[in-house]
Amino acid sequence: NASGKPSTVAVIGLGRFGGALALELEAAGTEVLGIDEDAERVQSFNGLLTHVVRADSTQEEALRQLAVHELGVVVVAIGSDLEASILTASRLLKFARPTIWAKAISEPHGEILDQLGVHHVVRPEHDMGRRVAHLVQGGIRDYVELDEDFVLVRTRAPQAAQDRPLDILDLDAKYNITVVAAKPLGERWQPTRAHTVLREDDEILIEGSPSATEAFSRLP
Ligand code: ADP
Repeated sequence: NASGKPSTVAVIGLGRFGGALALELEAAGTEVLGIDEDAERVQSFNGLLTHVVRADSTQEEALRQLAVHELGVVVVAIGSDLEASILTASRLLKFARPTIWAKAISEPHGEILDQLGVHHVVRPEHDMGRRVAHLVQGGIRDYVELDEDFVLVRTRAPQAAQDRPLDILDLDAKYNITVVAAKPLGERWQPTRAHTVLREDDEILIEGSPSATEAFSRLP
C-alpha cells in the first residue's frame, strides 16, 4: 500500500515477545492477525488486536483457512516449543508470498531457521544480552548496534564536549565520534549543528565505532 506499511501482519504465538510485538504493531497503525493455540492467550488479546484466532500454526490447513498465505508479513514468535517453531516456519515457507520473520531462543534454533530459509531471524535474548553488556559497564545509557563496527550511543556530554561550538571542538577528528543529537536538561532531543554548544548535564547521542564511542563515554 501507499504508506509502505504491510496491511496486515500475522503474529503467531502471543507469548511475552509476540504479545509485545503485536500490541506495538497495532499502536503503530498496522492491523494484526494474532494466532495462538492457547485459548486463554487468545482471550486475553481479544479486543486489543484487529483479529485474534485460536489455531495450531503447525497445521498448514489452519494457516490457509486464516489466509495467512495471502499476507505480506508473518512473524513466528513461538520460542520455547522448538518443534512448533520449526514446523510452523517450514509450513509458512511453502507459501510464496509472505516475508517471514522468526524469533530464535538459542543459537542452534537460529541456525535451523536460517537454514530453512526464514527471511529474518531475530535473536532477542542474545541481542539484548549484548546490549546490556554495554550498559552495565557504566557511562552509556543506551546502545544501538547499527552494524558490527557502527553504533549509536546515548551518554552525557563529557567536559571535552562542553562550552564551545561543536565545529570548533572538532570531536570527529579528535575522538572519531559524531554528536548527532543533544538533550539539554529538561528539554527535548534536538539535532546538533555546527554552532551547537553543549553544557554540563546535557545528554547526547553519538555515533561511531564501538571502541570510539565507549572511550568517549568514559571521558570525565
Ligand atoms: P515468550 O518467551 O515470548 O513468552 P513462548 O515460547 O513462551 O514465548 O510463547 C509462545 C506462544 O506461542 C505461547 O502463547 C504458545 O501458546 C504459542 N504456541 C506454541 N505453539 C504453538 C502452535 N503450534 N500454534 C500456535 N501457537 C503456539
